[in-house]
Amino acid sequence: MEKKENKGVNLAEFMPLVLRRIVILGAGESGTGAAVLAKKKGFDVFVSDLSTIKDKYKEILERYEIPYEESRHTEEKILNANEVIKSPGIPDKVPIVKKLLLQNTPVISEIEFAGRYTNAKTICITGSNGKTTTAMLTYHILKSAGLNVGLAGNVGESFALQVAEQNYDYYVIELSSFQLDGMFDFRADIAVLLNITPDHLDRYNYEIQNYVDSKMRIIQNQTAADAFIFWNEDPVLKSRIADYRLQIGGKQLPSLYPFALTKGDGAIAYTENKQIIINTPNGNFNMEEDLVALTGIHNLYNSLAAGITSKLLNVKNGNIRRSLSNFRGVEHRLEKVAKVRGVEYINDSKATNVNSTWYALQSMKTPVVLILGGTDKGNDYREIEVLVKEKCRALIYLGVDNSKLHGFFDGKVKQTTEAHSMKEAVSKAYDIAEKGDTVLLSPCCASFDLFNNYEDRGEQFKSCVRKL
Ligand code: ADP
Repeated sequence: MEKKENKGVNLAEFMPLVLRRIVILGAGESGTGAAVLAKKKGFDVFVSDLSTIKDKYKEILERYEIPYEESRHTEEKILNANEVIKSPGIPDKVPIVKKLLLQNTPVISEIEFAGRYTNAKTICITGSNGKTTTAMLTYHILKSAGLNVGLAGNVGESFALQVAEQNYDYYVIELSSFQLDGMFDFRADIAVLLNITPDHLDRYNYEIQNYVDSKMRIIQNQTAADAFIFWNEDPVLKSRIADYRLQIGGKQLPSLYPFALTKGDGAIAYTENKQIIINTPNGNFNMEEDLVALTGIHNLYNSLAAGITSKLLNVKNGNIRRSLSNFRGVEHRLEKVAKVRGVEYINDSKATNVNSTWYALQSMKTPVVLILGGTDKGNDYREIEVLVKEKCRALIYLGVDNSKLHGFFDGKVKQTTEAHSMKEAVSKAYDIAEKGDTVLLSPCCASFDLFNNYEDRGEQFKSCVRKL
């Protein structure tokens, strides 16, 4: 692929002599980064956050002399913006955003904004599950191969801050559907769509189609020079992708790179005879499945997606092979913690929906004591019922309200019990597990009932295991 020409509209070029005002809603990682970039580009910048702002972000805003407010939104200082950059965490239905939209003020995401100021190639990764893993794996391969590459989006430093302060030739960007919702003219050189399973439907009027539309924004503005890598077997995508091809209509499609577990149906990357196979116009790649560091079918998908991307960017096969085999994984995703008295303890705290727990269970090769539970997001546990029956010796429900879990699983597994703290859960798991078993924390649920977030839940698990 050629290095791209300027891809977006550089607002700064069109700025009238009067300063254009950019207001940023939400001073987290993305908002603070956007504020710095906007300031550097000469805008009149103001940051407003309805919550308190973390000290580390305040320091950055102060260092760049960017005015901000916290614990409130002062309308007069916001509604006069020429453009607003909104944190992906803020839904469109909050009053201040509604007012902005009503008066036709453009509300965009930090990624959209930063994309205007870089000519670097962008590799954009989305999906309901596997984004962080695939983004970090892809970044690991590209960086190890010597490319001048940054990692951005939901992981690490914001894209905008890196555009402001670094000079990368490539960016691997993890994109949530919320970020995609605020993207309009941005063009991904390589778009990766891992899968679409119902998640966050509360932000999409409980309509899966709205969520699919949001994910498919990843290919909007792509041209024939760009690439679209996607999971060919995804049931949702499979039934709807034709609509999008049609919708793109007269415009040229990106080149399509479907991947799947097995050969056929047009997949250009798949597994066969225990090998990963990737066939691209830039050459082919193959590797023993067993040499891939990450385990589980889901990670084969993630590895195929990262492998195709790397081939398209002309990374040598030896480099791809080495990086796929020495990647150390991502914290809180099927992370091996310790082996205690012949029992393996695995932290998969990031499994916050049923689908990700399905993949975790599927990858287990020993009897499992599963710790699950938390804030239920409308889960349908039938999805994991067969695997739970087949693989779990016991279930430990870890949540404030475990009644739904009791109702669904009790009687289906030999032993079920509940815990109200991580310490209690780990101690019960220790008592139940037998030599050769795995204790797996893969909760299916969000963590907010007992923990600050999934990282806190995973840290507590690891700390309790290490004290056993
Ligand atoms: P995301 O960033 O999309 O939330 P992560 O890489 O953080 O995804 O993984 C979240 C959870 O989803 C992990 O617990 C992991 O076991 C599971 N997972 C990872 N990759 C996939 C995939 N391709 N398909 C389904 N589940 C996956």
